[in-house]
Amino acid sequence: MGELRVSKSELVDSYGRVHRDLRVSLTDRCSLRCTYCMPADFSDWIANDSLLTTDELLTVIGVAVDSGITQVRLTGGEPLLRRDIVDVIRGINALPQPPRISLTTNALRLAEVAQDLKDAGLQRVNVSLDTLSAERFKAMTHRDRFNDVIEGIKAAQAAGLTPLKVNSVLLKGVNDDEAIPLLRHALENDWNLRFIEQMPLDAGDLWARPVMVTADDIQSELEREFTLTPVPTRGSAPAEEFYVNGGPATVGIIASVTRPFCSACDRLRLTADGQFRNCLFARDETDVRSIMRSDSSQEEKIQGVRDILQVVTKAKLPGHGINDPNFIKPDRPMSAIGG
Ligand code: SAM
Ligand code: SF4
Repeated sequence: MGELRVSKSELVDSYGRVHRDLRVSLTDRCSLRCTYCMPADFSDWIANDSLLTTDELLTVIGVAVDSGITQVRLTGGEPLLRRDIVDVIRGINALPQPPRISLTTNALRLAEVAQDLKDAGLQRVNVSLDTLSAERFKAMTHRDRFNDVIEGIKAAQAAGLTPLKVNSVLLKGVNDDEAIPLLRHALENDWNLRFIEQMPLDAGDLWARPVMVTADDIQSELEREFTLTPVPTRGSAPAEEFYVNGGPATVGIIASVTRPFCSACDRLRLTADGQFRNCLFARDETDVRSIMRSDSSQEEKIQGVRDILQVVTKAKLPGHGINDPNFIKPDRPMSAIGG
């Protein structure tokens, strides 16, 4: 990346929210087909030549970090499908004032790469796992890979990619009887479990408010077996954390739909094809790929990305509007935007 001469300016929106967290989707492709995320026959992939290259990614992330981003989360699609994943992490870690780096993954390739990721500078991983039953896993993801996830989690823990967070989405009549077993298993295996409310972000038309499992449902189900006490400091974290049976272990609930946390949101997003978004649910996105591929000098490109980041941040709305009767789903699914 070229020399950065322009003065620094933090990413503050018109509601005073300072943005510190950048979620970067490395690919929209995935090795699973979780029913709430993408249909089994999904084929509307981003063209390979539209994906940001390693160098383009590192330049854009570098500008974001220089603009005040302190936490970079790599996601997708499935980020471990990117062949350059270790180089991307190493490159981010080599930036001046490197940010904290985490990765959200389905863990299928984690056993293979956990140590390399750690050595390259990755700090921790969030693994997505919605069930403890191999059979259910197959039904929920259309792939028979439960054991690979468990092996991936163990490898991540052995490599020191900790605290290891596990994210679970509960679906009514599918796996909503697993809240308690998942938490029991998490406590026994040193996982930091968080339940995520299902959001209207699938590539089909699956989500419906009347059938979603809410934070209230999850909390009351867990309280049948555990005592939950709110952890007081939340900051900009999306998860409401609860001590389990007095702590120190905790469980989180990410209630994006029923208890939105937009007023504390500090997140921006970069899609795999180089579009900045200021919210998962934003209707607009702003292209940086064309700047990166223009004939401009490296310095002009850097300034262009920096300017776009400011504009995108300033344009952020106060909330995602899911609870507004006129809410319209984003055009792209979670796998393309980056969860
Ligand atoms: N493939 C990786 C994984 O599954 O961890 C990273 C990308 S995935 C889109 C990131 C997270 O989004 C996962 O934890 C997944 O469960 C969650 N997710 C996907 N679709 C969702 C939806 N409609 N509502 C809530 N969470 C969703
Ligand atoms: Fe793939 Fe993650 Fe979506 Fe599941 S949730 S289909 S693992 S991107």
